[in-house]
Amino acid sequence: MTFDTIVVGIGGMGSAATWQLARRGKRVLGLERFDIPNAMGSSHGLTRIIRLPYYESPAYVPLLRRAYELWRDIEAVSNSELLVVTGSIDASTENDPLFQGALRSARLHSIEHEVLTGGEVNKRFPGYRLPDDYAALFQPMGGLVASERSIVAHVNAALAEGAEIHAREAVLGWEAKAGGDGVVVKTDHRQYEASTLILSAGAWIGELALPLRAKADPERQVLAWLQPHQPELFLPGRFPVFNLQVAEGRYYGLPIYDAPGFKFGRYHHLGESGAVEVIRRDADAADERLLRDFAEKYFPKGSGPTMGLRSCLFTNTPDEHFILDFHPDHPQVVLASPCSGHGYKFCSVVGEILADLAGDDRATRHDIDFLRLSRLN
Ligand SMILES: Cc1cc2nc3c(=O)[nH]c(=O)nc-3n(C[C@H](O)[C@H](O)[C@H](O)COP(=O)(O)OP(=O)(O)OC[C@H]3O[C@@H](n4cnc5c(N)ncnc54)[C@H](O)[C@@H]3O)c2cc1C
Repeated sequence: MTFDTIVVGIGGMGSAATWQLARRGKRVLGLERFDIPNAMGSSHGLTRIIRLPYYESPAYVPLLRRAYELWRDIEAVSNSELLVVTGSIDASTENDPLFQGALRSARLHSIEHEVLTGGEVNKRFPGYRLPDDYAALFQPMGGLVASERSIVAHVNAALAEGAEIHAREAVLGWEAKAGGDGVVVKTDHRQYEASTLILSAGAWIGELALPLRAKADPERQVLAWLQPHQPELFLPGRFPVFNLQVAEGRYYGLPIYDAPGFKFGRYHHLGESGAVEVIRRDADAADERLLRDFAEKYFPKGSGPTMGLRSCLFTNTPDEHFILDFHPDHPQVVLASPCSGHGYKFCSVVGEILADLAGDDRATRHDIDFLRLSRLN
Protein backbone atom coordinates (compact mmCIF):
# COMPACT_ATOMS: atom_id res chain seq x y z
CA MET A 1 0.00 0.00 0.00
CA THR A 2 1.28 3.48 -0.79
CA PHE A 3 0.89 6.64 1.30
CA ASP A 4 2.07 10.21 1.14
CA THR A 5 3.55 9.93 4.63
CA ILE A 6 4.00 7.21 7.23
CA VAL A 7 4.31 8.31 10.87
CA VAL A 8 6.10 5.87 13.19
CA GLY A 9 5.04 6.22 16.82
CA ILE A 10 1.59 7.56 17.69
CA GLY A 11 2.46 9.17 21.01
CA GLY A 12 2.39 12.89 21.72
CA MET A 13 4.25 14.08 18.63
CA GLY A 14 3.17 11.43 16.12
CA SER A 15 -0.53 11.83 16.89
CA ALA A 16 -0.32 15.60 16.31
CA ALA A 17 1.67 15.17 13.08
CA THR A 18 -0.85 12.64 11.80
CA TRP A 19 -3.70 15.08 12.35
CA GLN A 20 -1.84 17.94 10.70
CA LEU A 21 -1.09 15.83 7.62
CA ALA A 22 -4.61 14.42 7.37
CA ARG A 23 -6.25 17.85 7.61
CA ARG A 24 -4.06 18.95 4.68
CA GLY A 25 -5.56 16.15 2.63
CA LYS A 26 -2.53 13.86 2.75
CA ARG A 27 -2.81 10.09 2.67
CA VAL A 28 -1.21 9.29 6.00
CA LEU A 29 -0.57 6.05 7.86
CA GLY A 30 0.22 6.12 11.59
CA LEU A 31 1.87 3.06 13.14
CA GLU A 32 2.08 2.44 16.90
CA ARG A 33 3.69 -0.62 18.48
CA PHE A 34 1.63 -0.51 21.71
CA ASP A 35 -1.89 0.73 22.49
CA ILE A 36 -3.13 4.27 21.82
CA PRO A 37 -2.54 5.81 24.28
CA ASN A 38 -0.08 3.65 26.20
CA ALA A 39 1.96 3.83 29.40
CA MET A 40 5.23 2.59 27.88
CA GLY A 41 6.72 5.78 26.45
CA SER A 42 6.97 9.41 27.56
CA SER A 43 3.45 10.85 27.44
CA HIS A 44 1.48 9.01 30.14
CA GLY A 45 0.72 10.27 33.64
CA LEU A 46 -2.24 12.41 32.55
CA THR A 47 -0.78 15.94 32.55
CA ARG A 48 2.20 18.03 31.45
CA ILE A 49 3.27 21.59 32.21
CA ILE A 50 3.04 24.36 29.62
CA ARG A 51 4.71 27.74 30.22
CA LEU A 52 5.71 30.68 28.06
CA PRO A 53 8.77 32.54 29.47
CA TYR A 54 11.02 29.61 28.69
CA TYR A 55 14.10 29.41 30.94
CA GLU A 56 15.71 26.76 28.73
CA SER A 57 16.08 29.31 25.90
CA PRO A 58 14.06 32.27 24.61
CA ALA A 59 14.31 30.74 21.11
CA TYR A 60 11.43 28.42 22.06
CA VAL A 61 8.99 31.27 22.77
CA PRO A 62 7.72 31.81 19.20
CA LEU A 63 7.09 28.06 18.96
CA LEU A 64 5.23 28.19 22.26
CA ARG A 65 2.99 31.00 21.12
CA ARG A 66 1.98 28.87 18.13
CA ALA A 67 1.64 25.81 20.38
CA TYR A 68 -0.94 27.64 22.52
CA GLU A 69 -2.96 28.52 19.38
CA LEU A 70 -2.89 24.96 18.10
CA TRP A 71 -3.85 23.53 21.50
CA ARG A 72 -6.94 25.71 21.35
CA ASP A 73 -7.60 24.48 17.78
CA ILE A 74 -7.53 20.81 18.68
CA GLU A 75 -9.63 21.52 21.77
CA ALA A 76 -12.30 23.06 19.54
CA VAL A 77 -12.13 20.22 17.01
CA SER A 78 -12.27 17.50 19.67
CA ASN A 79 -14.63 19.33 22.01
CA SER A 80 -12.51 18.32 25.01
CA GLU A 81 -10.57 20.25 27.63
CA LEU A 82 -6.87 19.87 26.81
CA LEU A 83 -5.20 23.09 28.02
CA VAL A 84 -5.93 24.46 31.49
CA VAL A 85 -4.43 27.81 32.48
CA THR A 86 -3.30 27.81 36.11
CA GLY A 87 -0.41 30.28 36.07
CA SER A 88 3.16 29.09 36.46
CA ILE A 89 5.97 29.64 38.94
CA ASP A 90 9.66 29.35 38.01
CA ALA A 91 11.61 29.70 41.26
CA SER A 92 15.17 29.34 42.50
CA THR A 93 17.84 31.39 44.21
CA GLU A 94 18.06 34.75 42.50
CA ASN A 95 21.14 34.11 40.39
CA ASP A 96 20.24 30.59 39.33
CA PRO A 97 19.79 29.99 35.55
CA LEU A 98 16.21 28.84 36.16
CA PHE A 99 14.91 32.18 37.47
CA GLN A 100 17.30 34.25 35.36
CA GLY A 101 16.44 32.30 32.20
CA ALA A 102 12.69 32.69 32.73
CA LEU A 103 13.12 36.41 33.41
CA ARG A 104 15.26 36.87 30.30
CA SER A 105 12.69 35.10 28.11
CA ALA A 106 9.84 37.12 29.62
CA ARG A 107 11.62 40.44 29.04
CA LEU A 108 12.91 39.60 25.57
CA HIS A 109 9.48 38.54 24.35
CA SER A 110 7.42 41.03 26.40
CA ILE A 111 5.56 38.27 28.20
CA GLU A 112 3.29 39.37 31.02
CA HIS A 113 4.89 38.34 34.33
CA GLU A 114 5.49 39.28 37.95
CA VAL A 115 8.67 38.84 39.98
CA LEU A 116 7.93 37.64 43.51
CA THR A 117 9.99 36.53 46.49
CA GLY A 118 9.52 33.02 47.83
CA GLY A 119 7.69 34.55 50.80
CA GLU A 120 5.27 36.38 48.51
CA VAL A 121 4.57 33.16 46.56
CA ASN A 122 3.79 31.36 49.84
CA LYS A 123 1.33 34.08 50.83
CA ARG A 124 -0.46 34.20 47.50
CA PHE A 125 -0.48 30.43 46.94
CA PRO A 126 -0.55 28.84 50.42
CA GLY A 127 0.12 25.31 49.11
CA TYR A 128 3.72 26.44 48.57
CA ARG A 129 6.46 26.80 51.22
CA LEU A 130 9.45 28.20 49.37
CA PRO A 131 12.48 29.69 51.14
CA ASP A 132 11.52 33.35 51.77
CA ASP A 133 14.49 34.77 49.86
CA TYR A 134 13.93 32.74 46.69
CA ALA A 135 13.20 34.59 43.46
CA ALA A 136 10.11 33.51 41.51
CA LEU A 137 8.67 34.46 38.17
CA PHE A 138 4.89 34.16 38.07
CA GLN A 139 3.36 33.95 34.61
CA PRO A 140 -0.43 33.99 34.33
CA MET A 141 -0.50 32.01 31.04
CA GLY A 142 1.27 28.94 32.47
CA GLY A 143 -0.78 25.82 32.92
CA LEU A 144 -1.21 22.18 32.07
CA VAL A 145 -1.95 20.08 29.02
CA ALA A 146 -3.93 16.85 29.43
CA SER A 147 -1.36 14.65 27.70
CA GLU A 148 -3.11 11.29 27.27
CA ARG A 149 -6.41 12.96 26.38
CA SER A 150 -4.56 15.05 23.77
CA ILE A 151 -3.23 11.94 22.04
CA VAL A 152 -6.78 10.59 21.86
CA ALA A 153 -8.03 13.95 20.56
CA HIS A 154 -5.36 14.15 17.85
CA VAL A 155 -5.94 10.54 16.79
CA ASN A 156 -9.71 10.93 16.61
CA ALA A 157 -9.34 14.17 14.64
CA ALA A 158 -6.88 12.49 12.25
CA LEU A 159 -9.20 9.53 11.72
CA ALA A 160 -12.08 11.90 11.03
CA GLU A 161 -9.93 13.50 8.29
CA GLY A 162 -9.30 10.11 6.69
CA ALA A 163 -5.98 9.04 8.25
CA GLU A 164 -5.28 5.35 8.68
CA ILE A 165 -3.87 4.45 12.09
CA HIS A 166 -2.85 1.03 13.39
CA ALA A 167 -1.96 0.28 17.01
CA ARG A 168 -0.13 -2.87 18.06
CA GLU A 169 1.87 -2.88 14.85
CA ALA A 170 5.61 -2.43 15.40
CA VAL A 171 7.87 -1.00 12.73
CA LEU A 172 10.83 -3.34 12.38
CA GLY A 173 12.78 -1.23 9.91
CA TRP A 174 12.66 0.99 6.85
CA GLU A 175 14.77 1.67 3.78
CA ALA A 176 14.97 4.35 1.13
CA LYS A 177 13.47 3.20 -2.15
CA ALA A 178 15.84 2.49 -5.00
CA GLY A 179 16.45 5.76 -6.82
CA GLY A 180 16.42 7.68 -3.54
CA ASP A 181 12.83 8.93 -3.42
CA GLY A 182 10.29 7.43 -1.05
CA VAL A 183 10.58 4.76 1.61
CA VAL A 184 9.61 1.18 2.26
CA VAL A 185 8.53 0.47 5.84
CA LYS A 186 8.44 -3.05 7.25
CA THR A 187 6.29 -3.89 10.27
CA ASP A 188 5.60 -7.12 12.15
CA HIS A 189 2.40 -7.34 10.04
CA ARG A 190 3.35 -6.30 6.50
CA GLN A 191 5.15 -3.80 4.27
CA TYR A 192 4.11 -0.26 3.17
CA GLU A 193 5.46 2.42 0.87
CA ALA A 194 5.31 6.18 1.20
CA SER A 195 6.87 9.32 -0.23
CA THR A 196 8.00 10.56 3.17
CA LEU A 197 8.53 9.10 6.63
CA ILE A 198 8.32 10.71 10.07
CA LEU A 199 10.14 8.94 12.88
CA SER A 200 8.50 10.06 16.12
CA ALA A 201 9.28 6.93 18.10
CA GLY A 202 10.19 8.62 21.39
CA ALA A 203 12.63 6.59 23.47
CA TRP A 204 12.94 4.04 20.64
CA ILE A 205 14.07 6.51 17.99
CA GLY A 206 17.71 5.39 18.16
CA GLU A 207 16.62 1.91 17.04
CA LEU A 208 15.13 3.34 13.84
CA ALA A 209 17.55 6.19 13.10
CA LEU A 210 21.25 5.41 13.30
CA PRO A 211 22.32 9.10 13.47
CA LEU A 212 20.36 9.44 16.73
CA ARG A 213 21.59 6.27 18.39
CA ALA A 214 24.23 8.06 20.46
CA LYS A 215 22.28 11.34 20.69
CA ALA A 216 18.89 10.32 22.10
CA ASP A 217 19.39 8.66 25.45
CA PRO A 218 16.40 7.12 27.28
CA GLU A 219 16.22 7.80 31.03
CA ARG A 220 13.87 6.52 33.74
CA GLN A 221 11.73 9.09 35.58
CA VAL A 222 9.21 8.74 38.41
CA LEU A 223 6.07 10.75 39.04
CA ALA A 224 4.27 10.92 42.40
CA TRP A 225 0.72 11.93 43.30
CA LEU A 226 0.21 12.82 46.99
CA GLN A 227 -3.15 13.66 48.49
CA PRO A 228 -2.84 17.08 50.16
CA HIS A 229 -3.87 17.63 53.77
CA GLN A 230 -5.71 20.68 52.42
CA PRO A 231 -6.78 19.67 48.91
CA GLU A 232 -8.49 23.02 48.24
CA LEU A 233 -5.03 24.68 48.14
CA PHE A 234 -3.90 22.36 45.35
CA LEU A 235 -6.66 22.87 42.80
CA PRO A 236 -6.02 24.53 39.41
CA GLY A 237 -7.46 27.91 40.48
CA ARG A 238 -5.17 28.18 43.52
CA PHE A 239 -2.07 26.22 42.65
CA PRO A 240 0.09 27.29 39.68
CA VAL A 241 2.27 24.69 38.00
CA PHE A 242 5.90 25.02 39.04
CA ASN A 243 9.53 24.51 38.12
CA LEU A 244 11.70 24.76 41.17
CA GLN A 245 15.47 24.58 41.58
CA VAL A 246 16.32 23.74 45.19
CA ALA A 247 19.41 22.34 46.89
CA GLU A 248 18.03 18.80 46.36
CA GLY A 249 17.65 19.21 42.57
CA ARG A 250 15.25 20.57 39.97
CA TYR A 251 11.60 19.63 40.48
CA TYR A 252 8.30 20.30 38.72
CA GLY A 253 4.70 19.92 39.80
CA LEU A 254 1.05 20.41 38.89
CA PRO A 255 -2.29 20.83 40.67
CA ILE A 256 -4.82 18.07 41.32
CA TYR A 257 -6.33 17.21 37.94
CA ASP A 258 -8.00 14.04 36.63
CA ALA A 259 -6.56 11.92 39.47
CA PRO A 260 -6.39 12.20 43.26
CA GLY A 261 -3.32 14.01 44.53
CA PHE A 262 -1.08 16.82 43.35
CA LYS A 263 1.57 15.57 40.96
CA PHE A 264 5.28 16.25 40.90
CA GLY A 265 8.64 14.78 39.98
CA ARG A 266 12.36 15.43 39.94
CA TYR A 267 14.17 16.07 36.65
CA HIS A 268 16.61 13.22 35.93
CA HIS A 269 15.20 11.43 38.98
CA LEU A 270 18.05 9.01 39.89
CA GLY A 271 20.08 9.45 36.71
CA GLU A 272 19.20 5.95 35.43
CA SER A 273 19.70 5.97 31.68
CA GLY A 274 20.41 3.15 29.24
CA ALA A 275 18.91 1.01 26.51
CA VAL A 276 15.15 1.38 26.42
CA GLU A 277 14.49 -2.35 26.71
CA VAL A 278 16.47 -2.71 29.94
CA ILE A 279 15.47 0.41 31.85
CA ARG A 280 13.38 -0.71 34.82
CA ARG A 281 9.75 0.39 34.66
CA ASP A 282 8.56 -0.15 38.22
CA ALA A 283 8.47 2.49 40.95
CA ASP A 284 9.47 1.54 44.47
CA ALA A 285 9.82 2.72 48.07
CA ALA A 286 13.15 4.47 47.38
CA ASP A 287 11.52 6.55 44.62
CA GLU A 288 8.65 7.38 46.94
CA ARG A 289 10.98 8.42 49.79
CA LEU A 290 12.97 10.76 47.59
CA LEU A 291 9.84 12.46 46.27
CA ARG A 292 8.07 12.62 49.65
CA ASP A 293 11.14 14.25 51.26
CA PHE A 294 10.86 17.04 48.70
CA ALA A 295 7.11 17.52 49.22
CA GLU A 296 7.40 17.49 53.01
CA LYS A 297 9.92 20.32 52.84
CA TYR A 298 8.51 22.58 50.10
CA PHE A 299 4.80 21.61 49.98
CA PRO A 300 4.04 20.37 53.53
CA LYS A 301 0.29 20.93 53.15
CA GLY A 302 0.41 18.71 50.08
CA SER A 303 2.31 15.76 51.49
CA GLY A 304 -0.49 13.49 52.66
CA PRO A 305 -0.94 9.85 51.67
CA THR A 306 0.59 8.62 48.43
CA MET A 307 -2.07 8.17 45.74
CA GLY A 308 0.13 6.99 42.90
CA LEU A 309 3.67 6.45 41.64
CA ARG A 310 4.54 5.87 38.00
CA SER A 311 7.69 5.57 35.98
CA CYS A 312 8.03 7.21 32.58
CA LEU A 313 10.85 7.83 30.10
CA PHE A 314 12.78 10.94 29.11
CA THR A 315 14.81 10.82 25.89
CA ASN A 316 17.73 13.19 26.41
CA THR A 317 19.93 14.84 23.81
CA PRO A 318 23.45 15.93 24.88
CA ASP A 319 22.45 19.61 25.19
CA GLU A 320 18.83 18.92 26.26
CA HIS A 321 17.40 20.77 23.27
CA PHE A 322 15.16 18.96 20.81
CA ILE A 323 16.15 17.37 17.53
CA LEU A 324 13.82 18.27 14.64
CA ASP A 325 15.47 17.71 11.27
CA PHE A 326 15.77 15.65 8.14
CA HIS A 327 17.75 12.42 8.24
CA PRO A 328 21.27 13.46 7.10
CA ASP A 329 21.37 10.78 4.37
CA HIS A 330 17.67 10.60 3.44
CA PRO A 331 15.85 13.93 3.09
CA GLN A 332 12.51 12.11 2.71
CA VAL A 333 12.85 11.00 6.36
CA VAL A 334 12.10 13.44 9.20
CA LEU A 335 13.57 12.86 12.66
CA ALA A 336 11.65 14.04 15.71
CA SER A 337 13.15 13.79 19.19
CA PRO A 338 11.50 16.66 21.03
CA CYS A 339 11.84 15.44 24.59
CA SER A 340 14.76 15.95 26.99
CA GLY A 341 12.03 16.12 29.60
CA HIS A 342 10.29 19.25 28.33
CA GLY A 343 8.69 18.44 24.97
CA TYR A 344 5.03 17.70 25.56
CA LYS A 345 3.79 21.30 25.63
CA PHE A 346 5.15 21.61 22.07
CA CYS A 347 3.30 18.59 20.59
CA SER A 348 0.73 20.76 18.87
CA VAL A 349 3.31 22.93 17.08
CA VAL A 350 5.75 20.07 16.52
CA GLY A 351 2.92 18.27 14.71
CA GLU A 352 2.64 21.26 12.41
CA ILE A 353 6.41 21.43 11.85
CA LEU A 354 6.68 17.70 11.11
CA ALA A 355 3.82 17.95 8.62
CA ASP A 356 5.63 20.90 6.98
CA LEU A 357 8.93 19.01 6.72
CA ALA A 358 7.28 15.87 5.37
CA GLY A 359 4.94 17.84 3.09
CA ASP A 360 5.21 19.09 -0.47
CA ASP A 361 7.62 21.94 0.31
CA ARG A 362 9.83 19.98 2.70
CA ALA A 363 10.25 23.23 4.62
CA THR A 364 8.69 25.08 7.54
CA ARG A 365 8.11 28.76 8.29
CA HIS A 366 9.02 28.12 11.93
CA ASP A 367 12.54 28.92 13.05
CA ILE A 368 13.93 25.53 14.07
CA ASP A 369 17.59 26.12 13.18
CA PHE A 370 18.55 25.83 16.84
CA LEU A 371 17.02 22.33 16.86
CA ARG A 372 18.89 20.92 13.84
CA LEU A 373 20.90 17.76 14.27
CA SER A 374 24.08 19.31 12.84
CA ARG A 375 24.60 21.42 16.00
CA LEU A 376 25.49 18.21 17.85
CA ASN A 377 28.18 17.05 15.42
C1 LIG B 1 7.78 12.02 33.93
C2 LIG B 1 7.76 12.99 32.77
C3 LIG B 1 7.36 14.30 32.99
C4 LIG B 1 7.35 15.21 31.93
N1 LIG B 1 6.88 16.47 32.15
C5 LIG B 1 6.77 17.33 31.12
C6 LIG B 1 6.13 18.58 31.31
O1 LIG B 1 5.65 18.90 32.41
N2 LIG B 1 6.00 19.41 30.23
C7 LIG B 1 6.48 19.07 29.01
O2 LIG B 1 6.35 19.88 28.07
N3 LIG B 1 7.08 17.87 28.80
C8 LIG B 1 7.23 17.01 29.81
N4 LIG B 1 7.79 15.77 29.63
C9 LIG B 1 8.33 15.42 28.30
C10 LIG B 1 7.24 15.00 27.36
O3 LIG B 1 6.30 14.18 28.01
C11 LIG B 1 7.87 14.31 26.14
O4 LIG B 1 8.70 15.27 25.50
C12 LIG B 1 6.83 13.80 25.16
O5 LIG B 1 5.91 12.96 25.80
C13 LIG B 1 7.52 13.06 24.02
O6 LIG B 1 6.54 12.62 23.11
P1 LIG B 1 6.93 11.61 21.94
O7 LIG B 1 5.81 11.59 21.00
O8 LIG B 1 8.30 11.93 21.44
O9 LIG B 1 7.07 10.20 22.69
P2 LIG B 1 5.92 9.15 23.05
O10 LIG B 1 4.69 9.83 23.46
O11 LIG B 1 6.54 8.15 23.98
O12 LIG B 1 5.61 8.47 21.65
C14 LIG B 1 6.48 7.61 20.99
C15 LIG B 1 5.65 6.43 20.53
O13 LIG B 1 6.40 5.68 19.57
C16 LIG B 1 6.03 4.33 19.71
N5 LIG B 1 7.03 3.51 19.05
C17 LIG B 1 8.31 3.36 19.40
N6 LIG B 1 8.95 2.53 18.56
C18 LIG B 1 8.03 2.13 17.63
C19 LIG B 1 8.07 1.24 16.54
N7 LIG B 1 9.21 0.62 16.19
N8 LIG B 1 6.95 1.03 15.83
C20 LIG B 1 5.78 1.66 16.16
N9 LIG B 1 5.70 2.51 17.22
C21 LIG B 1 6.81 2.74 17.95
C22 LIG B 1 5.99 4.17 21.22
O14 LIG B 1 5.27 3.03 21.61
C23 LIG B 1 5.32 5.47 21.66
O15 LIG B 1 3.92 5.33 21.80
C24 LIG B 1 7.81 14.82 30.66
C25 LIG B 1 8.21 13.50 30.43
C26 LIG B 1 8.18 12.59 31.48
C27 LIG B 1 8.61 11.16 31.24
